[in-house]
Amino acid sequence: MFTILDLVQPNTIDEAYKVLVDKKSNTILGGCAFLRMGAKRIGTAVDLSKLNLNYIKEDDEYIEVGAMTTFRDIETSPLFREYFNGILPKSVSNIIGVQFRNVVTVGATVYSKYGFSDLITALLCLDTEVELYKGKRMSLEEFLERPYEKDILTRIFIKKNNRKAVYGNLRNAISDYPILNVSVSRLEDKWTVVVGARPLHAKIAKGASRELSSGNFSIENVENVANIASEELHFGSNMRGSAQYRKSMCKVLVKRAIMEVLQCK
Ligand SMILES: Cc1cc2nc3c(=O)[nH]c(=O)nc-3n(C[C@H](O)[C@H](O)[C@H](O)COP(=O)(O)OP(=O)(O)OC[C@H]3O[C@@H](n4cnc5c(N)ncnc54)[C@H](O)[C@@H]3O)c2cc1C
Repeated sequence: MFTILDLVQPNTIDEAYKVLVDKKSNTILGGCAFLRMGAKRIGTAVDLSKLNLNYIKEDDEYIEVGAMTTFRDIETSPLFREYFNGILPKSVSNIIGVQFRNVVTVGATVYSKYGFSDLITALLCLDTEVELYKGKRMSLEEFLERPYEKDILTRIFIKKNNRKAVYGNLRNAISDYPILNVSVSRLEDKWTVVVGARPLHAKIAKGASRELSSGNFSIENVENVANIASEELHFGSNMRGSAQYRKSMCKVLVKRAIMEVLQCK
């Protein structure tokens, strides 16, 4: 269990950031589900709940999600059920249970770049951008590759377009972490294939995405694309599965997800 020596609830993000960077042990709180699993000794805990960062809203171009939005908000959002074939609600709707999803936050999840994350894999096949308070706004892809920097993730933006998207995963048990997860999307001719829980963080399979974007959807080429994805990405081993197993399963999940996107209306 973690220890908190002091707690603040700032009224502005600037105030929150100043406290965060004041001491190494100062820490932002999301839903605290992950923090409480560790034994971290937190100097000043920074609770963002007074900053009105719990929302999902849209304008003509983007769907904007505040950092304190919970997985349950994503799961039950009529907007997200309508867009991208409901990939975002689907990606989170089996994680642990409703009480858990009522607590865990989007900002903490994306900022932490968890390798096993279901949500990050789904977000990465969409046109997602991340906004950090001090860092700039950037694509999720760029953010995932950047080295760690102490900052506050304030919101994410998802381009509102007609992307068709599908999410798939492999787990030993429904409440366990995924062994591997995959998302595939298509915006007209442009395809994006993403593989996560490798167990490293989600990554776009560039070669596979390029090959698929050539427009050859014969079963032989779909199998070829799944092979390319499994060859171009790096897989590792952990207690849930070996690198070899993940590599084999990658072919199955990618092929399945492509076939499903091809059926999307
Ligand atoms: C038992 C358990 C099982 C899980 N299973 C799964 C699973 O199967 N699939 C899956 O995808 N996920 C799973 N998760 C992860 C979960 O979905 C969340 O991603 C995770 O708990 C982090 O969210 P949180 O709100 O609890 O973060 P917290 O625990 O509050 O914070 C986590 C980290 O993020 C930092 N942080 C919080 N908010 C911000 C912010 N706005 N800006 C910058 N830093 C911030 C905190 O300082 C901390 O370092 C699991 C987590 C637990 C505890």
